[in-house]
Amino acid sequence: MSIPLRLKYVLEEKDYLNVKEVKKIEEKELISIKERNYKICSCGTKIYENSFSDEQLLLCSCCGKRIRKENFKEKDFIIEKINYKKIIKLLQNKLEPIGYKFLDDKRLFSYNGEKPIYIIIPEISSYNFILSEYGGQNCLFIMLDEEKTKQTLLQQWQNRQWWVMDFLEKNSTDIEDISKSLQKNIAIKPDVEEKLDLLLKKSPSFFEQNFIPYFLEQLKLKNKDLQSYLLNLKLNSNDLTNSKVIVLGGAGYPDFLILNLYKYLSDGLKPDKYGEVKRYNKTKFTISDYGTALAHSNEGDNLMIVSTDDIQKEVWVKIVESMRINNYFKNVLIDKDLILLLLSLLKIEINGV
Ligand SMILES: [Zn+2]
Repeated sequence: MSIPLRLKYVLEEKDYLNVKEVKKIEEKELISIKERNYKICSCGTKIYENSFSDEQLLLCSCCGKRIRKENFKEKDFIIEKINYKKIIKLLQNKLEPIGYKFLDDKRLFSYNGEKPIYIIIPEISSYNFILSEYGGQNCLFIMLDEEKTKQTLLQQWQNRQWWVMDFLEKNSTDIEDISKSLQKNIAIKPDVEEKLDLLLKKSPSFFEQNFIPYFLEQLKLKNKDLQSYLLNLKLNSNDLTNSKVIVLGGAGYPDFLILNLYKYLSDGLKPDKYGEVKRYNKTKFTISDYGTALAHSNEGDNLMIVSTDDIQKEVWVKIVESMRINNYFKNVLIDKDLILLLLSLLKIEINGV
């Protein structure tokens, strides 16, 4: 659990792990906490030792019962002050060396790249307008109080949120990688499909013998870009850019099957699997083709690349079933649609195949 950096937040002494954590945060001067001794009235109300002066009679505020001024054996801790200046200072130390600037008027960090990236601290930043740009896809969030955001709109970007203390522990390279991945523009260039179709017409064996080796070599060469794109998908995992939607329908099937593209591609596209790729130049890929592919694999993982989008729906159903059994996509089919996506994203030039 992350401790909410929230004014008046109270932690019991017996919650010792969190108390230890909260003391560490205080040592870094991000908050001030106060220790309080108390006892509990028979009605259940906490009576704090320091809440009455010596002359006063000590009466329970709830039931009015008289309380003895002794034996305040229990203890809790309350957050009395949050040092926003110090929090910003530590974030500046982390973010400025990698090119982020703190905008005083909006109280957030910005990075000017191909696309602007913003790091927002919801408790103090002014950010509504910024969220409308790119639908919030260019924003990262540093949370002081994660619990509070669970009921808000920010929930939809939870994969791009970090509790401030965890964020401060991150190394700068990780933050840079995340920033870069958010800059990716994931629009598909319209002429890629035309080019690929022309190539596929060259000869029946062209796809298997020329295109695939070239495609795999490029995937290897551009593995860094590929990883950055996968990270982008992961950070956006709640929206449609991270989904491959497959239309099923028919008796016994749901209307749609939605593949989590991040998981699907990261499980399938690993350079050490490229040696075993099965390749099919076909106008339709059927469940029997799929069966044959698996039969030749000796129980290992399967990466299949096919030149068509016309995949019999039972194939997708089997792929998802096998994921449920193995907890990862053991069998990954890259259809034409995904080939185009990869060509386009990784700027793979196919003129020279
Ligand atoms: Zn009482």
